[in-house]
Amino acid sequence: MKILIADDDQISRMITKAAVEQSGHECIVAVDGDSAWQLFQEHSPEAVVTDLMMPGLNGLDLCRAIRAAEEDRYTYIILVTSHGSRKDVLAGMEAGADDYVTKPLDPFSLHIRLLAAQRITSLHADLARYRSALTEQARTDPLTKVHNRLKLSEDLGVLHDGSHGYCLAMVDVDNFKSYNDIYGHQAGDAALVAIAATLAGEIRATDAVYRFGGEEFLLLLREQSAATAETVMERVRAAVHDLRIEHSGDPDGVLTISAGIAAATDGGHRTGTEQLLKEADLALYAAKAAGRNRVALARALGSE
Ligand code: GH3
Ligand code: MG
Ligand code: MG
Repeated sequence: MKILIADDDQISRMITKAAVEQSGHECIVAVDGDSAWQLFQEHSPEAVVTDLMMPGLNGLDLCRAIRAAEEDRYTYIILVTSHGSRKDVLAGMEAGADDYVTKPLDPFSLHIRLLAAQRITSLHADLARYRSALTEQARTDPLTKVHNRLKLSEDLGVLHDGSHGYCLAMVDVDNFKSYNDIYGHQAGDAALVAIAATLAGEIRATDAVYRFGGEEFLLLLREQSAATAETVMERVRAAVHDLRIEHSGDPDGVLTISAGIAAATDGGHRTGTEQLLKEADLALYAAKAAGRNRVALARALGSE
């Protein structure tokens, strides 16, 4: 582990450092509470062994500062108390310390506490990993592996405070019901996977694809005007067509998509995401009505 030691007394510092190193850990040494806090922020140590009484930021302040700053990680804190008074120990544990040792420091006492520290911090690291994997999974469509509706609503929520020119494109697979009828549901699933991968492959890293419904996808295209988004979506449409997934029930003989684009502009009107979704859906409907396998732009209210 990387361990931060904070002690204003030089001799105590040396003793603690020697004990920590003897236990096989890497040391960062601070000569008072303020520099300990600095070093903590710079190095993110797994554990902190801190003196209680220090000028400036004392051991209790340091504990509180560390706990307040923690988000997805846990720092194991061991207090070193001069006299081991119950009052000091209680105050230290209440301020966020996990354990304490008394001066003069016994290297064995510290060593066994660092074993516990290692176990706890690695458990916390596991938890953080599981949490982030679950967060990811809860926002991913299991079939196509693109984002799902939950992720969409989160992303749109963040977008609308202060973001400018972006576009939403609603995509729907053409004549997909008959594709299922002719080739079976499993083939339908495989086609959706291939189409989703194509959509994701054609956009920029800052853009995103969401599965909106059964065979409907939504594309979030950042920093795009209606005109540039139309170019993007035309390329996306062509890429899906070029997959050449045979569909005898479609006039083109292959699976195709239609798309409707709605643009949020920074000048002129500012449309809420709900309204934009509606506009994109109407544009999609128009693309379908015009014959499918095509891209249509929404006629945004109040814009050119
Ligand atoms: P249009 O060109 O107007 O969009 O016609 P369509 O046949 O695609 O439209 P419709 O909405 O009637 O049919 C959508 C079909 O998509 C029906 C449904 O069974 C199928 N579908 C939806 N989700 C899935 C899925 O996850 N897997 C498969 N295989 N099919 C799905
Ligand atoms: Mg469809
Ligand atoms: Mg549909």
